[in-house]
Amino acid sequence: AAQEGFDADEIEGALGEAGHGPLPVLAVVGRPNVGKSTLVNRIIGRREAVVEDKPGVTRDRVTYEAEWAGRRFKVVDTGGWEQDVLGIDASVAAQAEYAIEAADAVVFVVDATVGATDTDEAVVKLLRRAGKPVVLCANKVDGPSSEADAAMLWSLGLGEPMPVSALHGRGTGDMLDEVLKALPEAPAQTFGGVLGGPRRIALIGRPNVGKSSLLNKVAGEERVVVNELAGTTRDPVDELIELGGTTWKFVDTAGIRKRVHLQEGADYYASLRTAAAVEKAEVAVILIDASENISVQDQRIITMAVEAGRAVVIAYNKWDNLDEERRYYLEREIETELQQVAWAPRVNVSARTGRHMEKLVPAIETALAGWETRVPTGRLNAFLGELVAAHPHPIRGGKQPRILFGTQAGTKPPRFVLFASGFLEAGYRRFVERRLREEFGFEGTPIHISVRVRE
Ligand code: GDP
Ligand code: GDP
Repeated sequence: AAQEGFDADEIEGALGEAGHGPLPVLAVVGRPNVGKSTLVNRIIGRREAVVEDKPGVTRDRVTYEAEWAGRRFKVVDTGGWEQDVLGIDASVAAQAEYAIEAADAVVFVVDATVGATDTDEAVVKLLRRAGKPVVLCANKVDGPSSEADAAMLWSLGLGEPMPVSALHGRGTGDMLDEVLKALPEAPAQTFGGVLGGPRRIALIGRPNVGKSSLLNKVAGEERVVVNELAGTTRDPVDELIELGGTTWKFVDTAGIRKRVHLQEGADYYASLRTAAAVEKAEVAVILIDASENISVQDQRIITMAVEAGRAVVIAYNKWDNLDEERRYYLEREIETELQQVAWAPRVNVSARTGRHMEKLVPAIETALAGWETRVPTGRLNAFLGELVAAHPHPIRGGKQPRILFGTQAGTKPPRFVLFASGFLEAGYRRFVERRLREEFGFEGTPIHISVRVRE
């Protein structure tokens, strides 16, 4: 029903928009220089997002939000390409593999002016094995005269090649229509599969924080490899591990154990893998080396998990390695450097000695519970009413904007829409978030608050 100057459609619309939950994921893969980054720029409709990469410069962003024909999805760009010791084919394949693993659908970009190469064929094999829907993008078809080049790519056996010029925008609309047909409404990784199946954990953190040590410690003899496809020599990707009487799925553990790719300088590579693991997971356990200062890279990984809207647990590892002095500074550092996840449960562990391993599962359970919390509308509005009465928004230009009512539009993570009589300042929004957390908990989860202002 209409409320306080908002009509029913408006309320409906705001809730639909805010309550979308996790978005389906599209991966854009292909050889270097086929135009992946140019295409990603087209898809996300922004220019600044992907600039030319200087070798050695870390690209910290690999996922972007996009919208086409009213549908929203995420795009994983593998354009920040780095060749490693394995050579070009293996490098392209490995990077495509991470992205494909986390994706609900894939755009495979081929340079139509070059035609299909051996490297392209190698990616086709991967795509077949993964079994995800694929849209074949025949790129660099800048004009009608090169449409024939695109037709040659039927030979890849991936269906109709979509002739596109990522540079000029030609054909990208038709291609995106195909993408929408291929993408599910909601990500399969999050909602699909077996309902009530094991919860999915991503164990992430910069190199050498102790991820593989921790995995080995918690897994013990319990590890069961899943997702191993018959007849392939592929690395196990996800593992089922029983902890505290419950079976959990640790995603992308192959990325934790396999070191061959992680040689010096392959930062982009690690970012891509972390982003893919986060996309697949419900909760991110972020490992930080307690014996060292919190680094920019730690912050970047935290941001990745928070922006992806995942439940978060912070695990300070190497606690056995702390002296009194470091412990003193660490407390201060946590207050200043970890503000963006002040709400996350923290455990101080040692993968070496096994210290506090038993605290990990309760922390994960707490974070997941926060992530799934739904506040009944009645309770929320009683709370908002009291809050507004006790702490009204400051008067601005003779007017006093007021929160009229609110609704939780979704969970995983919790998303709220507040309907207001005027613009709410950032400081007041932060205050509302703080009070919401004090009142309802939300431990271990980011929360989203959007505000609709009455026209
Ligand atoms: P990536 O390595 O696959 O991400 O490729 P980039 O997006 O960096 O593009 C490689 C080069 O191809 C750049 O010089 C682009 O300007 C160019 N390029 C990309 N798309 C097109 C296109 O549709 N037509 C033409 N003519 N050039 C393109
Ligand atoms: P990853 O790169 O994050 O997987 O880190 P590893 O598990 O390979 O650990 C990197 C190094 O840190 C190894 O030498 C480990 O033995 C050491 N390490 C891991 N956990 C601990 C810990 O709790 N305490 C101490 N002192 N060292 C640790």
